Amino acid sequence: MPMPQLPARFTGDPAPLGIDLHMHSTASDGALAPAALVALCAQRGLSLMALTDHDTVAGVAEAQRAAHEHGVTLLAGTELSTRWSGINIHVVGLLPKGARGTLVAGLESQAEARERRAEVIAARLEKVGLADALARAREQAGAARPLGRPDFARALVAAGLVADMGEAFRKHLGNGKAGDVKAHWPPLAEAVGWILDAGGVAVLAHPLRHSLTRRKRGLLLDDFAAAGGQAAELVSGFQNPDVTRDLARQLDERGLLASLGSDFHFPGGYLAPGSMSPLPRTAVPPVWSHPWLATGLEAEPAVL
Ligand code: AMP
Ligand code: MN
Ligand code: MN
Ligand code: MN
Repeated sequence: MPMPQLPARFTGDPAPLGIDLHMHSTASDGALAPAALVALCAQRGLSLMALTDHDTVAGVAEAQRAAHEHGVTLLAGTELSTRWSGINIHVVGLLPKGARGTLVAGLESQAEARERRAEVIAARLEKVGLADALARAREQAGAARPLGRPDFARALVAAGLVADMGEAFRKHLGNGKAGDVKAHWPPLAEAVGWILDAGGVAVLAHPLRHSLTRRKRGLLLDDFAAAGGQAAELVSGFQNPDVTRDLARQLDERGLLASLGSDFHFPGGYLAPGSMSPLPRTAVPPVWSHPWLATGLEAEPAVL
């Protein structure tokens, strides 16, 4: 397995890095099977990728086999759903040793939480006119994987209750709406603890995507760092460069490392694997400089 050439720091070079540490497959709400995702990443010239499906590592073994074939370095990962201050916060775990320790039971309880949450979401959507909501969402998911809000969104569209996914989230499933059910998720700090226990690096996912004030975002970063979180996504998809520089300052102040990812879910959208805003010139070191990941990248791939 050839080792990718990873920069030791971000220099503000606008050329794409060929690194994407946040992507989804059919193991959660992505459209591509893990092997197909890896093939697309290879085709797009990525050297380092992480598969970070929601609350599962079920796609990682298949992705790891494909990564070997294509000569891409793959980091095992997951994106955990958590609760902080009444909002649904996502934490990416980069897992050079795979899922182990308390993360194993943690992922089991996340799967159960997803099941129970789906029942509550279904009951609430039935009240707004989606009959048989659970069965309809299951039908949209196609496979036997745990249900996510996008499955309910597609069911609302299919039933003609909303025009598109955007409207489904705006009216029924987005932050603060009836289908935004958070009670089942663990506190942020608990999920971070599982990742650390697995020898992984905890990365706060897309901190700019929660419409938080700068001050509140600072409090989130404080609590995340206090829980042992080591990094945050400095760049997630496309974002305003001034905001990125400001976020870099907030990371720097707390000693958090910088990660980056597209949060790719499906082809045909405006995002593809590896597509994201350029990293600004910043003193914040890249997440792969963390010793646990550096070792993981050099060592034999984790057995999963
Ligand atoms: P869940 O993990 O089941 O809570 O669902 C959250 C997922 O819904 C996110 O990871 C996105 O993939 C998707 N999502 C969130 N907001 C939107 C939106 N406005 N339009 C389409 N998909 C969305
Ligand atoms: Mn998703
Ligand atoms: Mn997310
Ligand atoms: Mn994601």
